[in-house]
Amino acid sequence: MNKSEFYNDYKKVRDKAWDILIKNNVSSLPVDVFGLCERMGVKIISYTQATDIIRLYDLTEYTNNNDGFTTIINGHYIIFYDDTVNPKERLRFTVAHELGHIVLGHLLTDNVSCRKGVTIWNRGEAKEPNPSENAANIFASRLLAPACVLWALDIHSADEISKLCGLSKTAAQIRAERMRLLYEREQEWFKKYNKSCFGTSPRERAVLKQFENSIHKNT
Ligand SMILES: [Zn+2]
Repeated sequence: MNKSEFYNDYKKVRDKAWDILIKNNVSSLPVDVFGLCERMGVKIISYTQATDIIRLYDLTEYTNNNDGFTTIINGHYIIFYDDTVNPKERLRFTVAHELGHIVLGHLLTDNVSCRKGVTIWNRGEAKEPNPSENAANIFASRLLAPACVLWALDIHSADEISKLCGLSKTAAQIRAERMRLLYEREQEWFKKYNKSCFGTSPRERAVLKQFENSIHKNT
């Protein structure tokens, strides 16, 4: 995949995260990712709650060394997640990541069908970085920590991002590094075009509009 192909793919995933925020009227941080899944008709169930279902559908192997996985059972999307992980913020990212696999259509294009009518997203044995896993991570971080909202709140540090967005320190650090690059790009845009690079797409503006009240409250 060349650089521009990667950027196009990246943009598609980012736009999808924005679309989900817009369509579901998400208007404040931290994003209630559990409530969002419910609104979208996606069931979420912890490994602890799902012991019987996991046994019934022979899914135990997927719970090993996996923070979560996604299935279609009897036509319903169900996200299973490990509720024993630490820090707890990781749960939110896991659920957002699995939701990414669903909305990006990975279960429809690259899945394994198990016995008893279960379709499951197939991570495959591909070495990381697996493009679909990357895409689900990009989706999750853009959904939980939308750059334009962080920009409107003038958020820069990993600590702030972690608190505001309910992300683990690790995920927040990755997001903070991305924000640093975007703020740098903004400076270049100011010099070149005399305007900010944030809020240039209609989708981004729609997200900002939706978060307007919570942005004003926080600034
Ligand atoms: Zn995944």
